Order: sequence, then structure tokens, then C-alpha cells
Amino acid sequence: MNKKQKRWRNRIIIALALFAAAFGLEESGLLAALFGTPGDVYASFALFLVPYLVAGHKTLLEAARNIRRGDPFDEAFLMSVASLGAFAMVLFPETEPHMAEGAAVMLFYQVGELFQSYAVGQSRKSIAAMMDIAPEYANVEKDGRLVEADPAEVAVGETIVVKPGERVPIDGVVTDGVSQLDTAALTGESVPRHVEPGSEVISGCVNMTGVLRVRTSKPYGESTVARILELVENASEKKARTENFITRFARVYTPAVTLSALALAVIPPLVGMGAWSDWILRGLTFLVVSCPCALVISVPLSFFGGIGGASRLGILVKGSNYLELLAHVDTVVFDKTGTLTSGTFNVVAIHPETGVDPDYVLSMAAHAESFSDHPIAVSVRAAYSGQIDRGRIAEAREESGHGVSALVNEHLVLVGNDKLMAEHGAAWHDCDLTGTILHVTVDGEYVGHIVIADVVKDDAEEAVRDLHAAGVRRCVMLTGDRQDVAEAVAGRLGIDEVHAQLLPQDKVDAVEHLLAGEKDGARLAFVGDGINDAPVLMRADVGVAMGAMGSDAAIEAADVVLMDDRPSKIAQAMRVARKTMRIVWQNIVFAIGVKVLILLLAAFGIANMWLAVFGDVGVAMIAILNAMRCMRTE
Ligand code: ADP
Ligand code: MG
Repeated sequence: MNKKQKRWRNRIIIALALFAAAFGLEESGLLAALFGTPGDVYASFALFLVPYLVAGHKTLLEAARNIRRGDPFDEAFLMSVASLGAFAMVLFPETEPHMAEGAAVMLFYQVGELFQSYAVGQSRKSIAAMMDIAPEYANVEKDGRLVEADPAEVAVGETIVVKPGERVPIDGVVTDGVSQLDTAALTGESVPRHVEPGSEVISGCVNMTGVLRVRTSKPYGESTVARILELVENASEKKARTENFITRFARVYTPAVTLSALALAVIPPLVGMGAWSDWILRGLTFLVVSCPCALVISVPLSFFGGIGGASRLGILVKGSNYLELLAHVDTVVFDKTGTLTSGTFNVVAIHPETGVDPDYVLSMAAHAESFSDHPIAVSVRAAYSGQIDRGRIAEAREESGHGVSALVNEHLVLVGNDKLMAEHGAAWHDCDLTGTILHVTVDGEYVGHIVIADVVKDDAEEAVRDLHAAGVRRCVMLTGDRQDVAEAVAGRLGIDEVHAQLLPQDKVDAVEHLLAGEKDGARLAFVGDGINDAPVLMRADVGVAMGAMGSDAAIEAADVVLMDDRPSKIAQAMRVARKTMRIVWQNIVFAIGVKVLILLLAAFGIANMWLAVFGDVGVAMIAILNAMRCMRTE
């Protein structure tokens, strides 16, 4: 509990004690003995007024402020009117006084509000555990000395030192030192990651064993940590339909309830169906029961908890609307490279044309690929053992879904697939090996091809199996790669449908087509690494991006980001989403059900104000406790 909540709690405890004392005095008959009748009524009026004001003055002021602003209808208003009304019953001297109920309404309302504020704080904290990844400083090496600096002020290319126990403040590459990194805060994965010189480190991980020197590769603002924090902070702004519905519902509901209560209090006595005091009391009870606090708070709290729970698993959901959509996904479309496969390709074979040196083919390819971020390019460069002098390369161009072209030593080199060759009118030889084929031409002359193969991620099969088990109707794979490679991968993983040799635009079309074939209410998720597929991420109902390897564009375009690039996390995200939706609906049905019941009882004069106030606070507490289950993940 924070300071404000503690003060609030103390105020409630004092008010409860005063309330109990007043209650005791009233029941003991002492007041009657001291003040006689009707003096005792005024004495107990004064006595109950004290705890009432101690607990409720803020709510009363808030209600007054809202009325002045012309926007009166909220819970503070309902509670203020109901409790003041109960006190005002003292104006009917012939009936029992109702000050105790009036004070109780306010007191228990406060108990519920405090509990609610605590619960919200608690789920904030679980998200804040994510927030905890924010680094406070960076040790920058300047002229051989270490200076502590604000991470935001460290430039790209500077060397920082991360000691054991410290958090990596900025993304970069290890230049010196060997260590284990704890990535749990980012990925929910507890297996430590080994890093050595040359390894990339992402900010937010905790360095566990050795001292690392890291050359920063991004400014702080673009580092993983800063991007995640931004995502999490913005997540609560994107509201789910259910959430918006509840807000709109409360806006119509509260005035409607107030009017009904007024009608209930006024019409029956006007037509001579009983005493005024009786019906006014029923009207007040009606007001208390109908307070929508349980809904207004528990629904957003559930979504908040769901987002928090998912983030603990290393799944960033950018808004509650996406949780809602995820719960209804029945088609999952995967991109192949970088999503189902690791995106690191091994060179399987180099087939040069007769008289060409295989090393020459690889060297030309590696040079032409030197400016590309595509996984193929990275792998080709890794396979090439020689130095790449970027100064010798000009006019490097990437044609997405085709390949690259560049001037290497003034020679025009093309590296890519059949489509690229066809487009440039170059001849090529087919290959019987199963794999991704990179044809290479130099100045229009075919010099041979490189066969590369990517490795299926170890959890890709599990990912597809889990999705099917979760009731996903079809798993589809889209790829720009060759048909035979695509079919081989899909067969191994149990994918239902494959579309190969697609250009980025074809992928959008394929997804449009799949979307058109969706059943009503069913949703389509696209999972990709964002390389050549950012438009598809945007087009799908839910775009899921690989966070660690994915491009910035992907993380930007996606609705859900998997921090550790494991496709099996999608089924987990769906489980969290469905659990959240289940809890949201449980709360809605439960809260409305109990309210309607008590409302009916109140209208018929069976429920009194005591039942109403306990009903209201009780329902709110149960709904909040239920909502907090969303945070828990198995
Ligand atoms: P995927 O759909 O599997 O993610 P992409 O759409 O990124 O694949 O690429 C499709 C195909 O285009 C690749 O299989 C490859 O043949 C070719 N290609 C794309 N980028 C490059 C590149 N940088 N170098 C060579 N070939 C490339
Ligand atoms: Mg791709």
C-alpha cells in the first residue's frame, strides 16, 4: 500500500470504530435515557454523522464537484444521494431512523473503493515488474575511466561496461568478456544466455557472471528496453470492445437507475400505494444496489491483469482489444523465414558454373549482400570467411522477395531467386537439392548458385500442435521461398496449408483471401518477423511479431510482440487471452445477476439497505479478486 492508501485505510478504520461506538450507544438505550424522545434521534443523528463524514467527505465533495461540472452520474453520486437520503429520513419522525444505514453505505463503499485501488496498484506493480527493466545508469568508458551516465545520453558506438548484477542499459555488441545473461525479465525464459565477444546483447537483461564491455549499437531511445516500456505504457489506451461497452453502459445505466429510483420513491405513494417514507427508502436501497462499481472496475482490471500476465511470459500485448481478438483466433498464418525457422541459413552447397571458383561465387554473393538485413544476407556473410570491404560496393539495392543487386568493384552482381533472374533476363540452372537457391550473376554472366537451408526452430512443431489443440482450425504458412522447401518444412510441422513463392504483395493478397474466407466472429492472426511482411502484420486481425530478431518496423506494425521469438508463445498468448475473456464475462454475468436479484428484492421491499450495501461491496470485492486471477499464469 502506498502512503495515500494507508491514510485512507486509517481513516476508514477510525470511521468504523466511531460507527461501532455510535451503534453500541444507540442500541444500549443510553441515548434514550439521556435525551428522552425525540432527543435521542437527534443525538444518534449527530453520532452517526461523524463516522459518515470522516469516511465520506471526499466522496461527497467529488459528487458535488461533478454536479457543478454538469456530469453528475457516477458511483460517487449514487452513494452520496443514497446515504444523504438515508440521513434525511429523519424528517419522517413517525418512521424508524436510518442514520446507521446511511453511514454504513458510505463506510462500506469506501472499503470497496480502497480495495479496488489496492487491486489496481497490485496489477500495476506486476506490470511495473516489467517496468523494472528500466536501467538507471550506464557505465561509460571515457579515456580508460568509468563514468556513470544517464543511458539516454550515451551515443552510439561508445563503450559501456556492464558489471555482474547490473542490467544492460543499451543494446550493443560485446567487445570483451564472457558472461551469462538473465533474460527472464524480457522473455519470461529462465535459461541464462551465454554471451562472448561478438554476441549481441539487448538492454533489460541482467548480467550475471562476468564483466562485459559492450559497444552500443543503438541510442537508448531505440533500445529494446525503451521500446518495451513505451509499448507497455501505451497498452492501456487501446481498449477492448467489452471495455468500451462497459464504459458506455455505465454512462447510460447510472442516469437510468437514478430516474428509476426516483420513480420508485415518488410514483407509488402518489397513487396512494403506501407511505412516503417506505417508498423513499426503497428508492434509496435501489440506488445503492444498482451502483455499477463491480463492473466499472473489474472489467478493465481483468484486461490489465491479462496484459500483465502475458508480459510475464515475454509476450507484449499492445492493448486489451488485441487480447479480445486473440481469444477468437481460429486461423494462424505464419511467415516461414525467421518465424518458423530460425532465420540462420547454412550453406548446403555451392554449385559454380564450369571453370568458376566456388569461393568466387560466395565472395561475390557476400559482397552484394553486405548492406542487406535479410536473414539470407546475414547468413551468406557469415559463411564467407574473407573480409568485406564495403568501400568497394556501390548502388546496393534490395528487391524484396527477389534478392539484391550491387556494384562490386564496378561489376554488377545479382543475387537472388528465379524471379530476380527472370526479371533481369539472366539465364540460370535449376538445382535438384531441396533448399533455398541463390543464383549469382556477374555483369549478366551466370556464375553459379548457392544452396542454403534454414533450420526449423525447436519449438515450431510444438507451436503448431498446441494451436491445433487450442482449437485453431487452420495453420497456414506463407513464404517467398521455393515450393519444395516450403512443403518440406510444412510437412514436418503439421501445417495445414502452404503458399510458396510469394512476393510481399502476394502475401497481403493471400491474407486478404484467407480473411474473406473467415467465419463470422473468427479472427486471423499473422505471425512474422517483419522482414518483407510488415504490411501483412498490419492487415491481419492480430499481427504478431518476433521481438528479438524482428525488425523495428515489425515491432511497430505488430499488435503482439513475442520477446523471445518462440512461435510456441502464440498458443500461450491465446490461452491468456481466453482466460481473460472468460473472467471478464464471469464478472459481467455475476455482477449483473446479483444486482438484478437484489434490485428486484429491493423494489418489492424485501431487501433492506443493509443487504444492498453488503451486496454491492461484496460483489465488487469478489469481481476484483476474480479479475486479479488474470495476472496469474500457469
Ligand atoms: P519468407 O517469406 O520466407 O520470409 P522473403 O519474402 O523474405 O521470404 O524472401 C523470399 C525469397 O526472396 C527468398 O527465399 C529468396 O529466394 C529471395 N530473397 C529475399 N531477400 C533476399 C536476399 N537478401 N538475398 C537473396 N535472396 C533473397
Ligand atoms: Mg520473412
